[in-house]
Amino acid sequence: MYQLGNIKHFEETTNYQGLKIQKAVKKLPPIRSPYLKKLNRKVSLSVDDYVKGILDGNISILSQAVTLIESSVEEHYKMAQKVIEKCLPYSGNSIRVGITGVPGAGKSTFIDTLGTDIADSGKRLAVLTIDPSSERSKGSILGDKTRMERLSVHKNAFIRPSPSAGSLGGVARKTRESIILCEAAGFNVIFVETVGVGQSETAVHSMVDFFLLIQLAGTGDELQGIKRGIMEMADGIAINKADGNNMEKANIAKNQFKNALHLFPMPHSGWLPKVEICSAVEHTNIDVIWKMITDYVDFSVKNGYFMLKRNIQNKYLMYETVEEYLKNSFYKNPTIEKMIKHYEKSLINKKITPFTAANNLLKEYRKLMTDKKSL
Ligand code: GDP
Repeated sequence: MYQLGNIKHFEETTNYQGLKIQKAVKKLPPIRSPYLKKLNRKVSLSVDDYVKGILDGNISILSQAVTLIESSVEEHYKMAQKVIEKCLPYSGNSIRVGITGVPGAGKSTFIDTLGTDIADSGKRLAVLTIDPSSERSKGSILGDKTRMERLSVHKNAFIRPSPSAGSLGGVARKTRESIILCEAAGFNVIFVETVGVGQSETAVHSMVDFFLLIQLAGTGDELQGIKRGIMEMADGIAINKADGNNMEKANIAKNQFKNALHLFPMPHSGWLPKVEICSAVEHTNIDVIWKMITDYVDFSVKNGYFMLKRNIQNKYLMYETVEEYLKNSFYKNPTIEKMIKHYEKSLINKKITPFTAANNLLKEYRKLMTDKKSL
């Protein structure tokens, strides 16, 4: 805040001529998944009802089960874990594709176009999104417009926007769990979409087989627009909007990206990431991008990397889940919460060092944990 009590900031006075600071934006409450509103605290279905419905490919029950995963109610969480456990043996049989790109790159148009082709071919496609922006702002980059018009009404498609409440770690785990349920429900292609702004890519990368980066040509900053780390994670790059006057620029960008990718160390998969141009609007080269993905799957299944990566991802998920649990258990403990508030003030007043404060907090936490009543 730039106004302290009744003291006005100097820039607010009438005779101030310079640039003015924008008024602070009011902090908005976190957005809760709209699906959660529909879910009563009391769930009428049993674990077995959920499992049977999912295995039967019942979309409505699958959707309710995903809502259960998203819920922050303890009993929903426990029930969801049981459903996931029972669905686990039926999961895994899909191609998991992560799709990222800056807002406006054409992700939703691309998914709509490629997704409709996939669904038309008789495959079943689930699209899940991770949108870190929705945790902080009122609007969600991925959710605030009519997206994927054709795909959203296709009988072979299931589209589910991200759960918006909670930490990114939590959202990632929930998406990972939703993948399991979708696979058990018979979806054999899973798209996980995220905005290419840097926070969620690592999480998505840790849950997919192929990571596709959608890029734009003709912005003049093809290589700068996306973080190096995200490019390094990509198994393939699709330069979208290669149509009309943009064709030449798209081809130039293709070469630039190819050259840039050569500078990175060879990925563990042994697969040199490919770059292709396409137009989601004009439906050109979309099949080439899909072939890139299926070629990668064939290649990595043959050399054993496909399963190796999934096993590594499972380990990663185990660690992540433990970390998330520990963090929640620590920071959401009411005693610890109070102590943290107190120590924050003491730190400002220089009455305690950060290390002593941290040690005291951990000591108290250990004490609370050994006292069974507080567990
Ligand atoms: P997202 O924010 O990455 O999901 O991007 P959108 O799919 O919403 O697309 C942003 C804008 O780019 C929209 O106006 C689309 O119509 C347009 N767009 C998407 N793909 C193409 C394409 O292949 N060619 C052209 N010319 N425009 C496209």
